[in-house]
Amino acid sequence: MLNIVIFGAPGSGKGTQSQKLIDKYHLMHISTGDILRSEIENRTELGKHAAKFMNRGKLVPDEMVIDILHELFIHKPAKVGYILDGFPRTLEQGRALDDMLQRENENIKVVLSLEVDEAVLTERLIKRGEISGRNDDTAETIKSRLQVYNRQTAPLKEYYATQDKLVNINGMGTIDEIFTRIEKVVDRLDY
Ligand code: ADP
Repeated sequence: MLNIVIFGAPGSGKGTQSQKLIDKYHLMHISTGDILRSEIENRTELGKHAAKFMNRGKLVPDEMVIDILHELFIHKPAKVGYILDGFPRTLEQGRALDDMLQRENENIKVVLSLEVDEAVLTERLIKRGEISGRNDDTAETIKSRLQVYNRQTAPLKEYYATQDKLVNINGMGTIDEIFTRIEKVVDRLDY
């Protein structure tokens, strides 16, 4: 299967590029951010708990997102492959993902890391906040999310580099320019 992790800081364009990957390669999208936001909208217990972390720009507890992934893998198996967007975000999540895939005799084919300068990220997120009204896209929360990314999520790059799976993608330019860079990498894969 073509299982892809799309990796990058908040505002790096993971969601946008995931959509293009889904259209071209027919992958199943798993965005933990979207799942958590829908839980919040539906006012579930899980959503209420998650909102406390998300509104402060913190990560929700590992156990919570790992459980969500587990359920999805069991009940909604992908045909062509998964595109994982916003998961894993910690080393513990990365290890849990490897275990879950291994149990199905599957693995991650590539980790695409969208590289974007911090000044550009902040600018994009502020603009997104103005348009979408997402309540974690405020100046204060953005700062915290970028810090969390650098401290807790970026170390995963090393984890995937040692597995020979990490590919850095220049995440600056137009949406189509960036996607062309991604396509080149994905089309070279064996799956
Ligand atoms: P962005 O990449 O722009 O931060 P996401 O929609 O991926 O947007 O995530 C929004 C928020 O949801 C995160 O700041 C975090 O609080 C929570 N979240 C999403 N995915 C995870 C995860 N895998 N682990 C912990 N928290 C998560």
